[in-house]
Amino acid sequence: MNLVDLKQLEERVREFVAGPGKSFLVKSDPRLTDRVAMNVVASSVFSEEEELERVELLRNYQRALFDAGLAWISGPLELGGGGLPKDADAYVRRELSCHPFPDNTLVRTGSQVLGPSMLAYGSAEIRQEFLPKVHRGDLLVCQLFSEPDAGSDLANIKTRADRAPGGWVISGQKVWSSGAKFADFGVCIARTEPESKRHSGLSAFFLDMHAPGVEVRIIKQMTGGAEFCEVFFTEVFVPDSFLIGAEGSGWAVVLDILMNERSSIGDELLPPRSYIERLAKSLGNGSNEFHRSRVAGLFERYEVGRLLIKRLQSAAEDKGGPGPELALTKLVVTNLGQEMSAVASELFGPRLVADSGDAAAYAWSEFVLGIPGMRIGGGTDEVLKNGVAERILGLPRS
Ligand SMILES: Cc1cc2nc3c(=O)[nH]c(=O)nc-3n(C[C@H](O)[C@H](O)[C@H](O)COP(=O)(O)OP(=O)(O)OC[C@H]3O[C@@H](n4cnc5c(N)ncnc54)[C@H](O)[C@@H]3O)c2cc1C
Repeated sequence: MNLVDLKQLEERVREFVAGPGKSFLVKSDPRLTDRVAMNVVASSVFSEEEELERVELLRNYQRALFDAGLAWISGPLELGGGGLPKDADAYVRRELSCHPFPDNTLVRTGSQVLGPSMLAYGSAEIRQEFLPKVHRGDLLVCQLFSEPDAGSDLANIKTRADRAPGGWVISGQKVWSSGAKFADFGVCIARTEPESKRHSGLSAFFLDMHAPGVEVRIIKQMTGGAEFCEVFFTEVFVPDSFLIGAEGSGWAVVLDILMNERSSIGDELLPPRSYIERLAKSLGNGSNEFHRSRVAGLFERYEVGRLLIKRLQSAAEDKGGPGPELALTKLVVTNLGQEMSAVASELFGPRLVADSGDAAAYAWSEFVLGIPGMRIGGGTDEVLKNGVAERILGLPRS
């Protein structure tokens, strides 16, 4: 990105924050004060109606961003994007993350994880008709990959797509589909060659989540939230134009999407430094040396992690796209999260899990309970480490 573009973007972000963005800055909710300060989604404390209101607010925030030219900065001009290089997107995301705007995970799955692959592999209809709406928040899209027997071993997918006049009929089950209950569409991987095994014979589809035959069931989590779903397909019709990539080439689309997912886990997903500052503040005057050194260690790890992520991201940009190194960015994020969770647990003890009236301590409970999920989503730590060992360090497969 050149300096002129950078200056213009800086100005555009400033104008957005002071203008149309202002009404979306998250305000304190008396039930949530400490949790909001920790930017926890806290879906567990909202009724279903309130949750839907929050999703509508998020869509409106995304529309305001899009209309201000800040939602799809690297997208093609002819589709409503800004036509700038990819690093412009990252710059704007970082700038916006300095303000308490609504958590946009539901939009990000469509725009940052699935969107780039829909642009690269999707039909003209998907690119022209749907993709701009995904970036504008008009359509929320979920990722329909994992199945009960296909998680780390994703090539074991059993969901089937059989030929039908004008398209395909999909039957099977997905699981752990984040945000599926709010999604308008999904990107689904299914087996189009019934006798095929492993990576061959799979195809990727854009799928209407409101089509007849789609059933979404929520999964209650130990955090109290319910962001995940099981999704069942009973003979769901998908038209030919919703095939993403060539028939039988779904694995290439999967790899592309997984790469996007890893490259979207950057420094803006690093648990905020302000959380560590909160821990430091809670130490008080009489704190012991062990606890002080543990919190100081977090500041060190945060800075090293932040710089390491920047280095990995710029190495990927120099190489012209994400590579296996980006698995390391996710490991940095989850390692820091785990360490913060461990230090918070040492400091607060049982006050962390029981609502004892100490809101500053209890606010950590969702963070601590959510960390194991971070280690699993987007590829488990163990599987990512296998990739680092084989593809970066060149170690033999065991
Ligand atoms: C926060 C979160 C969000 C998610 N969102 C989505 C989503 O939107 N869409 C979607 O499709 N899926 C989603 N998932 C599912 C996620 O991709 C899978 O949970 C993940 O791939 C692991 O699969 P699994 O749960 O079947 O565990 P398994 O694959 O059964 O793994 C069980 C354990 O075995 C270990 N293991 C497995 N294979 C190896 C190996 N070769 N070497 C060493 N250890 C190994 C794993 O590390 C893990 O500890 C999400 C999960 C989480 C937690």
